[in-house]
Amino acid sequence: MLLSFEYIARIEEAKKYDHRLLGVKQELFFCHPLSPGSWFFLPHGGRIYNKLMEFIKAQYRERGYHEVFSPTMYNMQLWETSGHAANYKENMFVFEVEKQEFGLKPMNCPGHCLMFEHRVRSYRELPLRLADFGVLHRNEASGALTGLTRVRRFQQDDAHIFCRESQIKDEVMGVLDFINYAYNIFGFTYELKLSTRPEKYLGDLETWEKAEAALTEALNQSGKPWEINEGDGAFYGPKIDISVSDALNRKFQCATLQLDFQLPSRFDLSYSAEDEAKRERPVMIHRAILGSVERMFAILLEHCKGKWPFWLSPRQAIVCPVSEKSQPYALQVRDQIHQAGYYVDVDTTDRKIQKKVREAQLAQYNFILVVGEEEANTRQV
Ligand SMILES: [Zn+2]
Repeated sequence: MLLSFEYIARIEEAKKYDHRLLGVKQELFFCHPLSPGSWFFLPHGGRIYNKLMEFIKAQYRERGYHEVFSPTMYNMQLWETSGHAANYKENMFVFEVEKQEFGLKPMNCPGHCLMFEHRVRSYRELPLRLADFGVLHRNEASGALTGLTRVRRFQQDDAHIFCRESQIKDEVMGVLDFINYAYNIFGFTYELKLSTRPEKYLGDLETWEKAEAALTEALNQSGKPWEINEGDGAFYGPKIDISVSDALNRKFQCATLQLDFQLPSRFDLSYSAEDEAKRERPVMIHRAILGSVERMFAILLEHCKGKWPFWLSPRQAIVCPVSEKSQPYALQVRDQIHQAGYYVDVDTTDRKIQKKVREAQLAQYNFILVVGEEEANTRQV
């Protein structure tokens, strides 16, 4: 009885913090019937969206990633080479351009392969970490669309690492460290699972065994507990599954860490080794920390129950003058805080101060600064 009560209470709580409700309440985003599954981010939602990307970009600088920009639509020939035309076409938006078939990209990887093969590569350039926030489209049935978690248009904090076999371990450790860094800040706990070679697989056995050994070593050195999912890897490479638990105790898959032996071979990618005459094939690592920015936005909104932590908040402070007399000072304070780089508003209505404060609390401002004559005289908020 107690258990089911707890369960119902948890469902009720989750409903209360549904991102679709909070998003409307806080004027963050909306969806229009004229573009199902593609969301509009309003100014306050845009602030959060940008903060999430800036957070990741700052880490890219620290961690040796290079941000690139790549096309949104490609001739279907690209998707033939990548294998998406054969296996993923029904999930893509396909259309005709000058009598040729084109497709909107559902992922960035094939485009990054074109970047890699754009010129002759040397082992000295590896690992090459290409990051891309490009807009992706997937053709989800309109009936399957739900809020920001199942959408047609989204962006990922996507990156592909091209590296040598001998670099797999260090690169995977780097990604695990990145995940740990970000998820600690978000306040998530997470579990790690290694998915190994399935019955049907691509590439040679030796490469698989070396890669799995490197992943195992990286996981061991991460110091985090992990489990093994025998035979659950993709046919094109082993992966590490990261499952996140939020404040409402729900589990999500956000981050990706997937090795790929297939795409480098489909695109015939190679680099020159120490012996220049020798060409070697790079390994590709697909990785994302947030996953879809849209989906992470929704998860974080529900996880913080609508109360954004200060650094992510679109409403960091509001200045409330006690009376009209202290309004000029309130405006000064607002400008100063704005210039320091924070999101700040001022309440210049003629309502009672209690009412202003109450409303600011409901709007989830992180700081409510009340200023009266005394504050104006001493110039202290
Ligand atoms: Zn990828």
